[in-house]
This record gives sequence, C-alpha cells and structure tokens, in this order.
Amino acid sequence: MKMKKLVLIIPFVLLSIVINAQTKTIAHRGFWDTEGSAQNSLKSLRLANDIHCFGSEFDVWITKDGEVMVNHDPTFQNVTLETATYNEVKNLKLSNGEKMPTLKDYLKQGKKLKVQLILEIKTHQNIERQNAAIDATLQLVKKMKLENRITYIAFSLDAVKRLVKEAPKGTEIYYLNGELSPKELKAIGCTGPDYNQSVYKAHPEWIKECHELGLKTNVWTVNKKGDMEFFIKEGVDYITTNKPVVLQKMTGNKIDDKYAK
Ligand code: MG
Repeated sequence: MKMKKLVLIIPFVLLSIVINAQTKTIAHRGFWDTEGSAQNSLKSLRLANDIHCFGSEFDVWITKDGEVMVNHDPTFQNVTLETATYNEVKNLKLSNGEKMPTLKDYLKQGKKLKVQLILEIKTHQNIERQNAAIDATLQLVKKMKLENRITYIAFSLDAVKRLVKEAPKGTEIYYLNGELSPKELKAIGCTGPDYNQSVYKAHPEWIKECHELGLKTNVWTVNKKGDMEFFIKEGVDYITTNKPVVLQKMTGNKIDDKYAK
C-alpha cells in the first residue's frame, strides 16, 4: 500500500477505535436470545458476563409480602406478582426451566461476576408498593455490599426521585420515560436519560447537550446494526440491546466462537 493511502486511512482507524471505546453494551433482560437462556434468568446474566458486556439489565417487582422478584411483565403465567405472595410465585418456571429468580438470587449470582447490574424498578400499581420495592431493593443491595455494582433505571419519575434521594452518592440512576429534556434531568439530580431510540432521533441535539451538562446517555432497545452504528457515532455512552453479540463485535470486543455465529 502506498504511503499516501496509509496516511489517509490511519486517522480513520484510530478515530473508529476511539468512538467504539466510548459506547458500552448493556444486554437487555440479559443475554437471552441464545440456546438454554431466557429473559431475566440467572443464565442470561451469566451469559451477558461471558460475552463481556458492560451491563446486564433486569426488572424487579415486589410481592404482596415483600419479596423482590426478577421478571419483566407484571403478570407471569396468570400470577400478578404485586398481589401474590412469595409462596405463590416461588415455583414459577421460566422458559429455560429455571425458577423465577428472587432479587437475592440475582444479586448472589451477580456478585460472582464482573458485569454491571442494571436494575429496573418497574412501575407498581401504587406509590406505596413502588416505594416498598425501592426500599427493599436498596436495603438488600446494601446488605450484600453491592452498591458499586448496581445502576438503577425506572420509567416512574417518582421512582427516579426516590432513588436519587435514597441511593448512595455516586450511584448511577437513569430515567426511561423520554419526556424530560437534559436540563430537566440535570435539575432532578439523576445521571441522565435512558431513552428509546425514537426520542433521541426526534431530539438529535440531546446527546451532546447531556454531555455538556455532565450527564451520561443510554439508549434502548437498539437491535439493528445501522441503528447501533448511528448511536456509536453520536457518542452515546451505553446501548441497551437484545443483540449484545452483534454490538460487542461492532465495538471491538472479542467474543467466544460459540456465541459469534
Ligand atoms: Mg427493563
């Protein structure tokens, strides 16, 4: 290759490495889209760690009698988690045969791994139940000495405000709902937006504006290569995806061959 061509190519290669290094992968509901896994299962958490994701996202609900459970939907196999007792939910089985994990199970597993735990407080039926879910979660995380390993996310503004007030200083807390501007998020004291990709596309200036305000940015749920490339170029800090292998490869992470297909 001629020297002239090399001189032209090298800055682009370096630039792409720098750009890629900035954006981190969060596996949405763990790495579930692979054999033997299931959304929000312990296996999906271990697999997200195996493919070196920065984070693995999961969702929590509190039962009527105060047990925090890991699951996405409010109702699972006709059992509504918020209004059921722990006894009624403890034997519910996920599609991969695992029992529905308690938050305690999830944290115990997470403690053995490196992956950051991205914990979504689901919007509960009323503020009292939601506050109970937040308080029980914070208490358990503290007891298990995992404060530095948890990032909180929530659609409920009340939940975000409570987390900002009650979580240890320095904890990252993101708002999911999409309607608040970077300045409004800054005023609340949270870490930044974790917004749907359509919100950033409607407000292309928000990523830069967040960074200028010292906020970080996360985007969900980005599954197409073209969209991943778009947000990497825009300099978003985290991408939450159902296709973590694709994003990990795109951002220069080495993936074990068994997951790389
Ligand atoms: Mg979630």
